[in-house]
Amino acid sequence: MNIVIVGYGPGGANAAVMARHFASDSKVTILTQETAQAHRKPGSSLALEFPGTADLDIGDWTHAALKERGIEVRAGTRVVSGDLSSKTLDIRDSKGKTSTITYEKLILATGGTPAIPNLPGTSLQGVYTIQDMADASRLGQVLSSVESVAIVGAGFSGLEAAERLHNLSKTVHMIVRSRFMRRLLEEPMSEELASRIPHGIQIHKGQSPTSVNGEGQVSGLSLGETEIPVEAVILMTGIKPNVDLARDLGIEIGTLGGVKVNERMETSVEDVYAVGDCVELQDPQTKAPALIPIGSAAARAGRQAGVAAAGSSRVYENIGLRFQYDNIFGTDIICVGLSSTTARSFGIETDVTYLEDSTEFAKVALVTDMDGILIGGQVLASRMGARVAYQIFERIKAGATLEAQPLLKPRHQRLKEQLESTLGPIQ
Ligand SMILES: Cc1cc2nc3c(=O)[nH]c(=O)nc-3n(C[C@H](O)[C@H](O)[C@H](O)COP(=O)(O)OP(=O)(O)OC[C@H]3O[C@@H](n4cnc5c(N)ncnc54)[C@H](O)[C@@H]3O)c2cc1C
Repeated sequence: MNIVIVGYGPGGANAAVMARHFASDSKVTILTQETAQAHRKPGSSLALEFPGTADLDIGDWTHAALKERGIEVRAGTRVVSGDLSSKTLDIRDSKGKTSTITYEKLILATGGTPAIPNLPGTSLQGVYTIQDMADASRLGQVLSSVESVAIVGAGFSGLEAAERLHNLSKTVHMIVRSRFMRRLLEEPMSEELASRIPHGIQIHKGQSPTSVNGEGQVSGLSLGETEIPVEAVILMTGIKPNVDLARDLGIEIGTLGGVKVNERMETSVEDVYAVGDCVELQDPQTKAPALIPIGSAAARAGRQAGVAAAGSSRVYENIGLRFQYDNIFGTDIICVGLSSTTARSFGIETDVTYLEDSTEFAKVALVTDMDGILIGGQVLASRMGARVAYQIFERIKAGATLEAQPLLKPRHQRLKEQLESTLGPIQ
């Protein structure tokens, strides 16, 4: 079997390893336009503060390590077009030389591209996006001569960048259209998070940029009538599926803008699979189409496609519950399953219960559906957040109600109950 994979991120690399594992006599080739070794995108913001930081290479997926497993990585190779009826792809190498390659099974794992807001001035010098550690490192070099920076977007990546720039004593402006992590956190959790952000960071809440200003080089960012003077603007406004190649090849694109796939990661064209940030996955809880641009989802989908391309009809249970974690400004931020916002987008009404534990400096939101079943949870904690998040994860997977499987009570509440059982009621 001749299996060709386009893309060398977690989707493509996992697909390659699994395909080779399940079809050990197959020829597996990864085509990637990048020349670098595989590296982790999580942690890229580190290079803003420490631009000399080497890429966080993934030892198991270096060109040499994959070669040992019988997988060839053709780096610096861009797929420019193809003809799926004759199973051929047109490729261009880093020297501009073009040729064709044939496949029996094709897996597309072309990732995502930054969503650039439709504003005047985004092509000025001094406007950045961060796609990987190389981008962050380049920006890190520039930052030594920059004093003030605006970050547009208030998700995980925007917050990470703000923390790094604050550590570098830059003047940091965060432009927050509605509230922090709007899709992933309940409103009181967003407020709690905002209260933990150092005062030195200037938060422009409820504002959207209207233009990036400057003569060739950024000199300011307009928020309606107000202009804030900045020398750089970092756009952290999310990513969209990179479906240019799939569309050119005639593969069906779904309603959300990602490649349409089924549970085996098969596309609309026979013998062509797609995985990762470029696809619309089935939401693991609702089974509805969803864009889930996170590495763990790409890796799981990649493994499924690798197994399918190797000839197995096996379908893995599902592609895993949403689980996102970061530690920013000393706070563990953990989001599991659905928030009330993501649930609403699937037509699910919710109730939210909040728990607080001042001894752990923690706040927890528990999202239940109208039958009382736990479908999501969020944790903000100064430490040990993972312990609570794991309990939430287990209960969601079990389809439990909070009455059937209550979360461990916060420590101060347990202490109060113990004291009350001996001393009587405490106000
Ligand atoms: C700064 C940053 C931080 C992140 N942090 C986290 C995190 O903490 N946790 C988390 O779960 N996720 C995180 N993510 C998201 C995660 O990195 C992505 O979900 C994941 O990389 C997607 O994997 P993928 O395999 O779909 O594609 P990608 O990793 O995006 O790789 C796409 C590949 O396709 C190749 N390609 C595209 N088009 C072509 C073509 N025409 N020809 C040849 N090659 C092509 C590219 O060269 C590349 O190798 C982060 C992302 C970023 C940008």
